Amino acid sequence: MLGAVFQHKESVLLSNLTPSYKVPYYAGPNPTRVLLAIPVLEDGRVRGILAIDRTELSPFSADEEELAAQAARYCQRAIQNERVFVQLERAKAEQGKLYRAAQALGAALSEKDVLEAGVRAAREIASFDLAAVTIWDESTKLHEVCAAQSSGNEIDDLVGARFQPNTGLVSMVVRNKFPLPYRGEYDAAHQVVLTKRFPWPDMPSLLVLPLLVHDKPLGTLILGAKRKHAFGDSVRPTLEVLASHLSVSLSNARMVQKLETMATTDGLTSLLNKRAMLEAATQKVASAARFKRKLSVLITDIDHFKKVNDTYGHDVGDVVIKGLADILKKHKRTTDLVARFGGEEFVIVCEETDETGAMNLAERVREELGKTQFHAKTTAFNVTCSVGVATFDKAGKTWEELFKSADEALYLSKRGGRNRSTVWESMRVRVGNPGVASAAPSGPQLKAAKPRVA
Ligand code: GH3
Ligand code: MG
Ligand code: MG
Repeated sequence: MLGAVFQHKESVLLSNLTPSYKVPYYAGPNPTRVLLAIPVLEDGRVRGILAIDRTELSPFSADEEELAAQAARYCQRAIQNERVFVQLERAKAEQGKLYRAAQALGAALSEKDVLEAGVRAAREIASFDLAAVTIWDESTKLHEVCAAQSSGNEIDDLVGARFQPNTGLVSMVVRNKFPLPYRGEYDAAHQVVLTKRFPWPDMPSLLVLPLLVHDKPLGTLILGAKRKHAFGDSVRPTLEVLASHLSVSLSNARMVQKLETMATTDGLTSLLNKRAMLEAATQKVASAARFKRKLSVLITDIDHFKKVNDTYGHDVGDVVIKGLADILKKHKRTTDLVARFGGEEFVIVCEETDETGAMNLAERVREELGKTQFHAKTTAFNVTCSVGVATFDKAGKTWEELFKSADEALYLSKRGGRNRSTVWESMRVRVGNPGVASAAPSGPQLKAAKPRVA
């Protein structure tokens, strides 16, 4: 009976029914004698069936039939209204989620905060078991996983993993700027997510969304779920909007990070610049004073560097500056601050380091630079440097005093013949590189050192 109504999209009237006739909405023997089934039509499609029946054998009148047909039309309108209402409610709820997501993303400034806010917002929209973000680097042509978390820790180790463009889903999404796989359904046997090298947990649901800023791909947001159809038609569009909010915030956070790096580091050596060093060193000296810790300041200056520039050119001079920076990076401890203070001068602030420790470091750096060969077009050459060392609190109680003392010690290294390290002492000077005769000027001569301001 129902099949006939669906097939023909027309009312079916049955009479003289017996108890053995199967009426689907009655359990057990059929109690009805007359039955009218009317299709509830919407845009020519059968939405449902309105059935009326009677237990006595008296046919429906024309009026009754018309009334039932009207009731069917009324049902159709009620269903339609309900559906629109549900859609509106859903749209309202989705807008609320996206609004809250946009606010949380806008408030997050660091990349880490943005990613956390993004994943939290995605959880409001769909439930998933893993989330990851990849970044596409246009200059190196590499994808990198910059965040990954999963309920069973299956992908957490992938952070930092890099891979070249391939036919995997992430690469394809970045290339085509379109979400994959189709309908969020993952086929582990035939699809690769990152690259074959990095295995991906087998889950039936997966969605790789492009992160686009002004239509340029920044990377992807990857969501995975152990549940089937987790990323169905009702959530994918909302997740796509979320991904676009995430892209803008992520790109802003990276820009802020870049600006901060540019503002605090030296472009040639990528060490701290003078401004960043002044800020950090003042704090280090203050905490050494507060907690009565040891601390030393070293200043290095390449000897006769003008000659290097004059003889081999400025570019070769830059290579020498980088060479000394690399030596300093190699010898520094993680707690040491190293900055390029200007031209070919570097400042090192070492925590928990006394005079002896600082002089050891100075000598190691000086000796290694002396042994390093640099290359100009036709020749190889060596350079040396002089170092001045000052230790808290003997040589000064504030950063300014310490810097001044280290600079005075450096001046003595220069005056004593260069290629040596000198530690500041109140009445005498102790000079490294003992093969060279040491000048030992007394206190008043120290004061005569060229004055400089940090
Ligand atoms: P001294 O032994 O007394 O230190 O002699 P010096 O020639 O090294 O003298 P000084 O330290 O005063 O000179 C530093 C020179 O470094 C001056 C400048 O031409 C050069 N310089 C400064 N900044 C840069 C830079 O970024 N690159 C290069 N190649 N040279 C620089
Ligand atoms: Mg200099
Ligand atoms: Mg110099």
